[in-house]
Amino acid sequence: MIVMKFGGTSLGDRERIDTVVSLVKSRLARQPVVVCSAHSGVTDMLLAGARAAAKGQPDLEPIRQREAKMLAALGLAATLVDDELKRLEQMFQGLRLLGELTPRSLDAVASFGERMSCKKIAAYLKKRRVPATYVQADEAGLVTNSRFTRATPLPEAYDNLRAYLAKVKGVPIVTGFIGRDVDGNVTTLGRSGSDYSATIVGKAVGAKEVEIWTDVSGVLTADPRIVPEARPVPTLTYTEASELAYYGAKVIHPATIHPAIEQGIPVRILNTMDPKAPGTLIVPTRTTTGAPVACIASKRGIRLVNIVSGRMLGQSGFMSTVFDAFQRHDVVVDLVATSEVSVTVSVDTDEGLESVVGELSQVGTVTVERGNGLVAVVGERVQDLSGLAHRVFEALSAVKMPIRAISYGGTKTNLQLVVPEDRTADAVRTLHRALFPEA
Ligand code: ADP
Ligand code: ASP
Ligand code: MG
Repeated sequence: MIVMKFGGTSLGDRERIDTVVSLVKSRLARQPVVVCSAHSGVTDMLLAGARAAAKGQPDLEPIRQREAKMLAALGLAATLVDDELKRLEQMFQGLRLLGELTPRSLDAVASFGERMSCKKIAAYLKKRRVPATYVQADEAGLVTNSRFTRATPLPEAYDNLRAYLAKVKGVPIVTGFIGRDVDGNVTTLGRSGSDYSATIVGKAVGAKEVEIWTDVSGVLTADPRIVPEARPVPTLTYTEASELAYYGAKVIHPATIHPAIEQGIPVRILNTMDPKAPGTLIVPTRTTTGAPVACIASKRGIRLVNIVSGRMLGQSGFMSTVFDAFQRHDVVVDLVATSEVSVTVSVDTDEGLESVVGELSQVGTVTVERGNGLVAVVGERVQDLSGLAHRVFEALSAVKMPIRAISYGGTKTNLQLVVPEDRTADAVRTLHRALFPEA
């Protein structure tokens, strides 16, 4: 068995969906389980619609029209997703009456993007003589915790999914992105979560491989929107892929690799628009002939939190006090830099930050600096590259890049730098030129 995941861009129009059909046909002998996202742009439309409804202006028309256009393009019955549209209509009315929007209701609304796209893809595959069955992951047993908008699966999700999918006839077309908590509330795995769904399903069915079909020929040496000459990386290790996703490479959801690691399932990133391109293979280990630096990732919107504590610094327990506070409020820390008198950490969200700052203010002076970007040079053998730090700092100093914080350890697979937010792209381009001179 294999899993084939198609992202929103691969399902953007009839032409791309026809490619998806031929790709699925070409792999029927490998018993594919297909996981699909919503068509590109639909999740954004649903979330915007929910926000407008809670502000008193429910308007399903743009979504209705988009669905009608897609159904017509695929030659499917105009009424195919009427039930889903009706449910959405009711939800929008409910939001209007309540006048408020919770993460739970956002997830319930957002889940309809995947429900409607998968229902259509299954119907279209059947029309093209591929036996296919529409499967809603939440009904198929993908149970999660109740962290709405960023849920993670519970251990029983895997057995549930395996048992459910074993009974499905033909190719299962499973909704990405969504699950359900133990109380029956719909949850989502976070934006781009269908990648994560793909490896969750892969682990559940014991897949030989998970293919993630997108609109680029694999993971590239940098975000192609920042560095147009970035080129595909043939192989990555699980660690490298996780780190670069975590540090901002949007091509896969940060948690995608976790379920794959547990069973050593290879994950391949492939291009729907160029299916013959080799793409990127993500595996447990990489041969030493690979380039020491695999990729440069970046993210904006970074907050630097500085904690200065004359009283406690240097005492055992200070670090754990700091990290306990972040953990208690569920705030994920990216970079950590320490000195004799202070600790600096970087985070990428304001969610929970105020509570952390409030708590840490009891042990020291805490300041938060906004307006930063984080750049990560990722590669399992980054530490082997002699003169890496020299090359990095020489290149950045040549463009007068202010560096706000640095983190680099002997056993680490990445070097992280914090720079002013409006110079993040410039830093990525500069480092790409210095570290991939042949590109
Ligand atoms: P999908 O709809 O298939 O899930 P996404 O838009 O979520 O696709 O992810 C693919 C996009 O990720 C690419 O089009 C590219 O712009 C972006 N991206 C960012 N960093 C990288 C990178 N290092 N390698 C490849 N793509 C990247
Ligand atoms: N449709 C969801 C999103 O736009 C999930 C995904 O595309 O993977 O975030
Ligand atoms: Mg995606």
